Amino acid sequence: MNPVIAVQPIVAVQPRWSATRLKTFLNCPRQFHYAYVAGIPAVPTSPLVFGRVLHQVLCFAHERQMAERKLPPVAQVLEQFDGLWSRALDEEQPFFRPGAPSPQMHTTLAHELLRAFLSAHQDKAPPLAVELAFEIEAAGHALCGVIDRVDEGQSGLIIVDFKSGARKPPLADVERDLQLTLYAFAAQKVLEQPVEQVVHYHLRNSSQIATQRGESEFEWLLDKVLPHVAQAVEREQFSPRYGYWCNWCDFRELCRAQDERDHAERNYPQPEPETAKGGEAWPTPHN
Ligand code: SF4
Repeated sequence: MNPVIAVQPIVAVQPRWSATRLKTFLNCPRQFHYAYVAGIPAVPTSPLVFGRVLHQVLCFAHERQMAERKLPPVAQVLEQFDGLWSRALDEEQPFFRPGAPSPQMHTTLAHELLRAFLSAHQDKAPPLAVELAFEIEAAGHALCGVIDRVDEGQSGLIIVDFKSGARKPPLADVERDLQLTLYAFAAQKVLEQPVEQVVHYHLRNSSQIATQRGESEFEWLLDKVLPHVAQAVEREQFSPRYGYWCNWCDFRELCRAQDERDHAERNYPQPEPETAKGGEAWPTPHN
């Protein structure tokens, strides 16, 4: 059962495109509408808050490394996590889905992966930049985002994106990941250097998946993805796109209610229970 969501007043779409916004639209235009047009705040779920706290702790460690030419002691980094995690639990009260690890289990996991991360990076050079915020214009669109870490490679920049989720994606997914494409494009513009590699850093086992980005991926982003999404949003085309991801959607209850209203208003028959079976825990879309 997803948490109940309060509906907020409608707000205007900001024509600034982050990777999250683009990916949300491509995943489900209706989800995009709820999040960015209706302005309904995302539920602070435990993976979301845990991931953000881990990013803050890594930023703390990297900034110390850049200032002092060495990483801070493990105990300080763990203490930093404990303080931020405890405050986040108090202030944000994240939603733990049934079956999710407890707050204490998250702490144990964080300590393990931070220890492994620090051990793997003891002898590494400090990054060129951390939490690099950008806002650039390209092909008539405003692009924005925050890059977790930028390193200096042999022949250009190395763009690193930290992921705290349990699932490690296959190489093929990382090769076409839109977020890394957008970050690579932005980094080469902002830092005026070529990009050597983009890296998906899987924190759970301190492993990396490195791939490249070049002109063909940048063209795909600028000439295909951006015009497609921007035009659809301008035309208010926010059709639902049902799939297994609906099970984790913050707006599932709202979406179900909207479907029920639409079915009632259009005199569509309610879906039989059978239609929700077969791997799709969701009614079939109406035409
Ligand atoms: S429940 Fe599914 S179809 Fe509905 S908004 Fe969420 S992702 Fe889209």
